[in-house]
Order: sequence, then C-alpha cells, then structure tokens
Amino acid sequence: MSVSVSFDRYYKYEELSDCLKQYAEKFPHLAALQSIGSSHEGRQIWAMTITNSATGSHDHKPAMYVDGNIHAGEVTGSMAALYLIDYLLTNYGCNETVTRLLDACTFYVLPRINPDGAELYLTSPTLLRSSVRPFPDYRKSEDPPGLHAEDIDGDGKILLMRLQDDLRGSWKIDGEDPRIMVERHPLDQTGPFYHVYTEGLLRDAKGQPAREVKLPLVQVPTKYGLDLNRNFPSGFSPLTPGAGVFPLSEPETRNQVEFVTGHPNIAGVLLYHTTGGVLFRPHSTIHDSKFDKKDIHLYEAIGQLGYESTGYPVVCCYGDIFSGVFDDWCFDQRGLLAFTPELWNAESRASGSEKVDFFKKQTSKEKRDIEHKLLIWNDRELSGRGFINWRPYDHPQLGQVEIGGWDTKECRQNPPPAFLKGECHKMTLFALSYAAALPHAVIEEVTVTALAPQLYQIEVLVANRGFLPTNITEQAVKQQAVRPDRVRIEVPDGVKLLGGESQMELGFLEGYALAQDVWGRYKSPSNQMARASWTVEVVGSEPHQVALSLLSERGGVSETIVDLA
Ligand SMILES: [Zn+2]
Repeated sequence: MSVSVSFDRYYKYEELSDCLKQYAEKFPHLAALQSIGSSHEGRQIWAMTITNSATGSHDHKPAMYVDGNIHAGEVTGSMAALYLIDYLLTNYGCNETVTRLLDACTFYVLPRINPDGAELYLTSPTLLRSSVRPFPDYRKSEDPPGLHAEDIDGDGKILLMRLQDDLRGSWKIDGEDPRIMVERHPLDQTGPFYHVYTEGLLRDAKGQPAREVKLPLVQVPTKYGLDLNRNFPSGFSPLTPGAGVFPLSEPETRNQVEFVTGHPNIAGVLLYHTTGGVLFRPHSTIHDSKFDKKDIHLYEAIGQLGYESTGYPVVCCYGDIFSGVFDDWCFDQRGLLAFTPELWNAESRASGSEKVDFFKKQTSKEKRDIEHKLLIWNDRELSGRGFINWRPYDHPQLGQVEIGGWDTKECRQNPPPAFLKGECHKMTLFALSYAAALPHAVIEEVTVTALAPQLYQIEVLVANRGFLPTNITEQAVKQQAVRPDRVRIEVPDGVKLLGGESQMELGFLEGYALAQDVWGRYKSPSNQMARASWTVEVVGSEPHQVALSLLSERGGVSETIVDLA
C-alpha cells in the first residue's frame, strides 16, 4: 500500500504530479488532491488535503497550511512538503502522534507553488529566482546588450568566469587554496588581480553574439526578474527588487492568497524555502512593538518548537531588505503565526556549527575562512563534486578566461542528494509539533435539568484543549480575520426554544500556552472554557432530541446530540 517515492533527488513536475496522484488514489480515506489554479505557463498548482475523513470533514478541523518552492531553485521545499505528505499517510494508524493529528486536524500541503520556475531550474542550466514571466515587463520583447549568463562550455552549468586585469581587478587568488578568490585589499598593488563574472556570452541589441568587445563589460540582469515572494500586499513596494507592478499581480501568489482566505480553518502556516538554516518570522516592515505582546510571545513559543525539531533558530526579519513577503501577509492580515524555514545550510554543515548569525556582515577574512571550510567539506564529503575547479577556456569574445566555481544547484542552494532526507525529516518534525499546538475546541459536557414538566434547561460547557488560543492571535481579532467561537442549538418540530438564542457568540477560547509566561510563574488561563445555556419546552409527546454544536473557525467544529427524556 505504498507509493514509490525517493528522497535522494529532486522531482520534476511530471514525476511530482504523478506521485501526488498516487497518494490520493492509495489513501482515499486520508488524502484528496486538487489544483488551486494554474501557473503562468498553465501548470496545475497542487494542494493535497490530508485528514481522516471518518472523524469529520477537513474544513471542520483546525488546519496547518504548508507550502514550498515559491522560489524556483528552492526545490528542497517541494521535497520536504512531499516528505510530510508521505510521512502523514504512511504513518497513520501505526504512529500515535500522526494518528491523533489526522483524526483531529487537517494538513493542506502545496509542494510546488511555482512549478514553471522549478521546471526551468531542474531541466536547464538556468539559475532564476522565481517565476518565468519576464520582468520588468519590457524584458518580454527586449534584451539589453551586454554579458548574458549562459553555459558557454556546454557542461550543463552556469558557473563563474575569472578574467585577469592587474590594473582594475577586484579579486585575487588565495595563496593557500587557488580555488578561492579573495577580496583585493586597497594596499594590494601587485597582481595578478581578476574580475569575476557569471559565465556567459556578450550579445548585441538584436540578441546576436557581439562581434566587437567594448569595455566596460556590462552584466545583463536575468529577464526572470520577478520574485513572487515580494508580490504580497503586506508591506508591498514596487521598489523592492522583483516585487512586480502591483500586489498579487501574478497567478501563483493570487492562488495562494485565495486558498488561505478560502480556508478559514487554517490556523498554522509553514512556508518552505532554502537556504540559511533559520526559521524566519515576520514582520519585515512592522516592528514587534506594534503587535500585541501576547502574539510575539506565541510566535516565540512556536518558534521554540521549530528550534527543538530542526536546530534552526528563529530570526525576526524586521529591518531587513525584504518586503511584500507571504509570511508578513499571513501574520499582518490574517493573524497567523507563519514561519519561513530556510532549509539547509552548507556553511554550517561545513563549519560544524549549528548557529548561524544570518544578518551578520562577514569580514573578508571570515568569508575566506568559511570558503576554505566549505572546500574541505566538499573534498571530503562530496568527493569534490560541489566545486568545479577553474579551468582555462578560450572564450570566443574575451579570449583566455578560466571557468569554475561552486556548483550552486548541486550543493549550495539545495542539499546534495545524500543530505536531502535529513532536511525533510527534521522539518516534518516541526510541522507535526506545530500541528499539535493548534487550538482544539470541544464540547466537554452537556447538562439537562428538568425545570418543570416538559420544560428543560440545557447547559453546555465548551473548552479549548489546545496550546494556542482559538483566535491564534490578537492581530487576527484586530483584522477581523477570524469569527468568534459560537455555540448553536437546533431544535426539531415539537420543541420550542424559550430562553437563549439559537446561536450565541462566546468570544475566543484561550489555549494553555499563554499561561506559560516568560517569568516562569505558575498560572492558568481563565478563558479556556465557557458555558452557555438554553431553556426549551417540549410541546409534542414524542421523545425529542436537540443538536448542539460548537463552531470555532480555527479550533474546529464539535457536535453532539442531546436527548430530552
Ligand atoms: Zn526563498
């Protein structure tokens, strides 16, 4: 009963689609596959809904939203999402945690948000950030003259070219390891010095190989200039590189936002990227002090679960260069505690240190030392496959150059195949513990008291048994992104509702997380439970039943039937 899948390579679109269809076919009681829309080039963007349908429909349970691969080359995200799907489906019924989670929660898993970009990345030497739609818009019809990134020696890779220029070069060759290029110091006056360019060809304004080489060499930016993860409405700026002309201008980002808003039961969000070995959290342009303190406390608490599972620290993105990113939108507009895990970090793998100070500026000596460690690691662990040694090449336009450098696709942007499964597994552990922290709203107790012949009081006690509150955040309440929890009574013909509304709002039910404050004082939440009551009169003579339900958008739906004796 298993799907043949392997986590030692990166799946292209057909293979990934086929695999997802097989899961849906083999686990019909647990998994359903849908397309949430088409990409720019018309590929389906798949969403797998995973829950035990025997214990309730997917939209009646709190849900985790997990997606990957919005950035073309970050294909680890797809594989980690696929691993989560595989782990949930193959462990249901034998692993206690997975069984409990699929009985009580839903997972919406979207392994590949940007199938066009990923396909180009996986099937050609092209390195691109995101979508294949040319951007800025004039790049659809126009390619400026200059040096274009291309695989000119036909090895299937776009590497670097180094050209000697002893007068103006910015780089020099390291004395100890000639593979390393180090920064030239202003006091360095004796060469050789080099320029380093992306491997490529000079083309003229018509796109033809240039006949004449004129200095300066101008490196032409890629025509794939869009960055889908700068295209979201929160903090959007057209000045952010790749942001697009207006928020949600691209079908891929619109699909995501429509899916999240169309599933109000989504209560947790993980967005898989590479690389860095960190768990990014919002907000890029709004300081923590502008959000409710409780929300930040909960962010840190969920982030701690992530750190414990992955070893990756939580880093708040405030003040960095990004804006218009999806996790910012999820938090700011939907009040969801979204994380952007940056899977895989070759540098920490090579240096043996887990902690990475992501935004720290490195000195040239630090950069050189990490490069040195990476090369030692490459030689030992990757049999040298990760770095293509500089080799002379007779460039048709530039004459003698050397081509070489890191094989980014092989070992830097994504883990080398042997390390892929480990990355997928630890991220799955985070997804499971995050899902276990979602709110869980239940009807705990119903009491029926006979007030007089045929007259009853029905009292219900409801609770949130989960870690997170049913609103998730105060931000969600402020943005009206979540409806307050409600209780509802449905009476049949022959029963009259005398006291209480058929539907009553309870507000939100707190989780047990907020009792665990940072000072270590013992306390307990007072709003974890709530009561509601109704008075009903039986007017007919038949025995009667009434239906009670607790409706919590993010905590789930709980239903019970009560007999009026
Ligand atoms: Zn990314």
